Amino acid sequence: MHLTSAFSLTFIQWKDALESFKESSHLLPFFIEGLYGDRSIWKKHVSPKTLQRLFSNWDFSLPDITTFKEAEDGTVKFLMKLPDGMEVETVLIPFYKRFTICLSTQVGCGMNCSFCFTGTQGFKRNLKAGEIVGQYLKAREWLLERYPSSLRPSIVLMGQGEPLHNADEVGKALKVLTDSKLGGVGHRQITLSTVGFVPGLQKLSSFPKVNIALSLHSPFQEERSLLIPVNDKYPLQEVMTYLDALPLLPRQYVTYEYLLIKNFNMSDQHVEALSDLLGNRRAILNLIPFNPFPDTLWERPSESQINTFKEKLVQKKLRVMVRTTKGSDILAACGQLKINRLSVKNGRNG
Ligand code: SAH
Repeated sequence: MHLTSAFSLTFIQWKDALESFKESSHLLPFFIEGLYGDRSIWKKHVSPKTLQRLFSNWDFSLPDITTFKEAEDGTVKFLMKLPDGMEVETVLIPFYKRFTICLSTQVGCGMNCSFCFTGTQGFKRNLKAGEIVGQYLKAREWLLERYPSSLRPSIVLMGQGEPLHNADEVGKALKVLTDSKLGGVGHRQITLSTVGFVPGLQKLSSFPKVNIALSLHSPFQEERSLLIPVNDKYPLQEVMTYLDALPLLPRQYVTYEYLLIKNFNMSDQHVEALSDLLGNRRAILNLIPFNPFPDTLWERPSESQINTFKEKLVQKKLRVMVRTTKGSDILAACGQLKINRLSVKNGRNG
């Protein structure tokens, strides 16, 4: 029988579960502390009978790190093995003294974006909430072994997969990750990136209020569809109505990710259209220079082209950032994640 992951349950659900076992309420904090920290604490506080009951009801395993690879800039790409043998990639990204963990939400991806390496792998399956949380816990455990005093890592849902194409499980995972007694990650420490998958956007109101990023990439309908085919079905105009309705926290913005592709989406018309689209919105425009991968037709612009485009947008008074490329020497940067045993075979523990 396939058991539900213990890492998909909220605090309240654990409380109810232990109550149904007729356990004293004193057990709950020790149990949770062991589950999200050092399990040896269970030996002292949880009876063998209760442990056995718990183990026969839920799956307490985390994904296995099959191998990992470290880039020159300190970015680490893990290959994580799931219970059915499928694998996903999780990336640990250093940023000054903090770390961010980039989580996958699906094995492969069904969105078929023309500039994304993951898309060429096709869609395999959705991840369960426990597998999403599990990647975070496993990467964090790895990090803490090396840097015991590092702060709690942030999260970006920007790995393999389209998070809102797996909205129910992603929503559940976010509830666990943001629960102060469980994952303990702040709402503003998490960013969910989406192509603008409308059936998922419709569910966002029931999610914890994490930061939302839209993969915009072009302000023009036909051009955007060339990059992101689902734009035909869920056009930008419709997507914007959902983003505009998001209740933002004070000083919270919607991020618009904008891929920079040489000779394609960086003209003055693009600057004008972006200014019209975002000028009156609480928006941050995040420019992402295209990260090349084997056999792609698109090209990355030069540094000076990137800077010129950025300056023109700044003159329009938009809030603009350029995303620094991390881990590109090991294909761990945005859009470069694709399961390929060869690309990770040099992992230091592999
Ligand atoms: N499916 C989600 C999250 C995954 S990717 C989404 O599309 O938003 C996170 C970001 O990396 C997205 O903005 C995506 O468009 C971008 N990306 C994908 N391929 C890329 C590439 N080759 N170079 C740079 N960014 C890329």
